[in-house]
Amino acid sequence: MAEEFGTVVIGAGIGGGTVVEELRDAGYAGSIALVGADPAAPYYRPDLSKKVMLEGSDPADSALRGEDWYSAHDVSTFFGTAVTAIDPASQTVTLGDDQQLTYGQAILATGSTPRTLDVPGAQLGNIHTLRDAGDAVAIRSQFGEGKKVAVIGGGWIGLEVAAAAKTHGCDVTVILHTDAPPLSSVLGTQLGEYFEELHRKNGVNFLKQADTTAFTGSDAVEAVETSAGSVPADLVVVGIGADPTTGPAASAGLTVDDGVVVDEHMRSSDGSILAIGDIANAQNVLRDERLRVEHWDNAVRQAAVAASTITGGSAVYDWQPYFYTDQFDLGMEYVGRGGPDDDVVIRGDKASDEFIVFWHRDGRVTAAMNVNVWDYGDELRALIGKEVPAARLADEQVSVGEL
Ligand SMILES: Cc1cc2nc3c(=O)[nH]c(=O)nc-3n(C[C@H](O)[C@H](O)[C@H](O)COP(=O)(O)OP(=O)(O)OC[C@H]3O[C@@H](n4cnc5c(N)ncnc54)[C@H](O)[C@@H]3O)c2cc1C
Repeated sequence: MAEEFGTVVIGAGIGGGTVVEELRDAGYAGSIALVGADPAAPYYRPDLSKKVMLEGSDPADSALRGEDWYSAHDVSTFFGTAVTAIDPASQTVTLGDDQQLTYGQAILATGSTPRTLDVPGAQLGNIHTLRDAGDAVAIRSQFGEGKKVAVIGGGWIGLEVAAAAKTHGCDVTVILHTDAPPLSSVLGTQLGEYFEELHRKNGVNFLKQADTTAFTGSDAVEAVETSAGSVPADLVVVGIGADPTTGPAASAGLTVDDGVVVDEHMRSSDGSILAIGDIANAQNVLRDERLRVEHWDNAVRQAAVAASTITGGSAVYDWQPYFYTDQFDLGMEYVGRGGPDDDVVIRGDKASDEFIVFWHRDGRVTAAMNVNVWDYGDELRALIGKEVPAARLADEQVSVGEL
């Protein structure tokens, strides 16, 4: 017999863990189920490539809430259990162990699934992707002085892992399939080069124009074979991006197009199912466009919108995307969404490693990034979309607040 709930949240990560809290904070009195494939209670995922890898912290220390929070707030948890199907006609969710839960409202927050490389040798040991606590602990356990680490891909996660491995004394090579600097598809060439240089000066090697063709070794991996040569490796981390985990949404027949298509209230094509976080391809009313954003801040804020929608509020998706990274001594925050071909305006001296970058198109600010300088968050956010001449953006005689 199916267990009945007012709201069933599918995916117990950052979005799922936050939305149950937002619902209770908003006074939602219905019964709530939180279902997650991960055996752990929701945790702060960005820590995996930072605190957990650098400081060896226990991922449990990054839990959003203690285990007892859920029972204390009358949230029934089903951790370590994946949802295999959703039937919107009967408003029923089926779990991997065949339990069934019915819902008045369902919220999908199933996050992303890392891409893997389907090449010979991919089944060898010590080849990892990084998404959950288990991955982070397994990767970290292989770090050590002189260990050879190959990171395939130069995105945010790949570079954070490279920095952590290097900090632990590993011999690190980042393998890129093009000649472009890492991150250049997001930040453009100039800032991509800055990140590449940050890593090079900390001793990270780069191998470019290198397509991975195979992994070799006996039980564990010993080398990555690429079109540009062989890279010896005791540990490989594949960081080539992730895809939205849309299996449960597709099983419900929801409209899926680069994620679950939702409106500004996070409602999907089925009025009783919402979607938030990495999987949501959502209508942003501030930018008047659809966005799918794979960052922590987005999952947390969309959770608040979904809770508002369910409790009869009017919150909408109306903010600029934001994210941050920490690599070696660099900490940065980025707000807005610049194109890789936008003009880049630097405020301050890049060589000092403390500066602000603006991306600029048609006279307007499209994005801003503060590198190792802090407390400009709200001011930079307010500038996105604003018409400001490039020379003024660069002029340090004009305070950021006056721009
Ligand atoms: C290593 C790492 C570092 C990161 N660092 C940063 C950073 O520095 N800054 C930043 O802004 N963002 C960062 N991110 C991205 C950020 O963590 C994600 O954008 C955020 O977690 C998305 O939240 P979510 O709720 O959509 O998905 P998630 O937090 O991924 O949660 C999804 C959950 O759904 C579960 N699930 C999937 N399928 C099912 C199913 N069928 N049934 C039940 N449960 C299911 C998963 O097990 C998972 O627990 C990082 C991500 C990773 C992996």
